[in-house]
Amino acid sequence: MDIREEFLRFFESKNHDRVASSPLVPDDATLLFNNAGMVPFKSIFTGEIPVPQNPRAVSCQTCIRAGGKHNDLENVGYTARHHTFFEMLGNFSFGDYFKEEAIDYAWEFVTEVLKFPKERLWVTVHDSDDEAEELWMRHVSKDRIMRLGDKDNFWQMGDTGPCGPCSEIFFDQGEENFNGPEDYMGGEGDRFLEIWNLVFMQYERSSDGTMTPLPKPSIDTGMGLERVTAISEGATSNYSSSLFMPIIKKIEELIAKEYVYAEGASYRVIADHIRTALFLLAQGVNFSNEGRGYVLRRILRRGVRHGYLLGFSEPFMYKLVDSVVSIMGKEYDYLAQKAEVVKEQIELEEARFFKTIASGIELFNEELKNTKEVFSGEVAFKLYDTFGFPLDLTEDMLREKNLKLDTATFEELMSQQRTRAKAAWKGSGDEAVHGDFKELLEKFGENTFVGYESTKNRSRVL
Ligand code: ATP
Ligand code: MG
Ligand code: MG
Ligand code: MG
Repeated sequence: MDIREEFLRFFESKNHDRVASSPLVPDDATLLFNNAGMVPFKSIFTGEIPVPQNPRAVSCQTCIRAGGKHNDLENVGYTARHHTFFEMLGNFSFGDYFKEEAIDYAWEFVTEVLKFPKERLWVTVHDSDDEAEELWMRHVSKDRIMRLGDKDNFWQMGDTGPCGPCSEIFFDQGEENFNGPEDYMGGEGDRFLEIWNLVFMQYERSSDGTMTPLPKPSIDTGMGLERVTAISEGATSNYSSSLFMPIIKKIEELIAKEYVYAEGASYRVIADHIRTALFLLAQGVNFSNEGRGYVLRRILRRGVRHGYLLGFSEPFMYKLVDSVVSIMGKEYDYLAQKAEVVKEQIELEEARFFKTIASGIELFNEELKNTKEVFSGEVAFKLYDTFGFPLDLTEDMLREKNLKLDTATFEELMSQQRTRAKAAWKGSGDEAVHGDFKELLEKFGENTFVGYESTKNRSRVL
């Protein structure tokens, strides 16, 4: 079943207008990336722009959660349900229908189109929301409805913007598959898998924290395509579904080592990160040392590090681009159009990091020998500055060893470097004169410096 298409058609049959996915880089300075289906509609919810003639919309929105309020970068490789890039299916009502229809449509889609067994489904409502509970009791028994607090059942796009209480649908993947203590709704485990969030949009949060009622109560829903695809294919991990397995198979083929789920986190991280990198590059975001381009760089370098763990010693991620295009190219035709250029960009970026990764990991491992609980901030800075290891990459490596980092020292060294860079720029008349910056860095004598790229305040091996 083509779930994406079924979803769009289902809501079209309920008089919703199909709206194409918006770019990953939103037209919204408060957000790093488009992190939910509602983002492109934000100004309609807040009343800034008028409600369209048809106040009902449906979309499949590409999302990235790798920074800001919704950040799942640290979950990838650790859970079976999180990606940095994913597709969110959503139906929207701009002051038209509210809780009742939202609940009824969702129930109908899940039980009649997806045909998920009712006895596997659970729902949550905000602990203050008697109305939602009553509406749900027309479909499920009361003991399957959990009331949870703000942490789980109050949704907000970011620190500011539209928000409201929500109600979520969970799928029980079975005790036999998951039995960790954290496996309850609202917990961190994967047994009760959250599939769909119905947000009852009622407020707008402003930067001082106050909440103003929206012009009209509205509906925003979000369902993860990867999660429902996995369930409908009988898989207990998104990564075991047809959306990811061809990429994982390709990695297996390239490294000639069998993928075994229990030890396969690196394969999964790489499969996740190549999707994100391809989409961002194909949409025109480039590797950089700041902002969105730096998130992209960090993600790619994490992928390279996992490749290194698997045994790759030269660029390989670019060879996965075709697998992603074969899975998603039909829906997103710009992927195939940009594939060749993107492969070159990825290969180049990989090659840069492969130059220093071995020395960096050697330094890291040496330092581990001297580390009891807290890893040296100086070494983390050297890894960053000389070997091109973004701070979050070092932190991720430390997490695998259950170690902490002396971030205070790292920050101090960063700020010293900023001050030095500023001093050197003074009088040059142009803060972006790269040559000055390069000279300055070379003077500091960081030995294996193999390239540079300057930003206002940072340097790093490319
Ligand atoms: P979780 O609690 O599992 O982290 P969430 O509550 O943060 O999910 P929402 O913000 O409610 O997620 O987003 C709506 C839906 O989008 C979720 O119910 C889920 O199906 C999907 N989703 C959210 N984050 C991810 C992700 N990182 N990867 C894949 N799907 C996701
Ligand atoms: Mg989340
Ligand atoms: Mg949740
Ligand atoms: Mg949620």
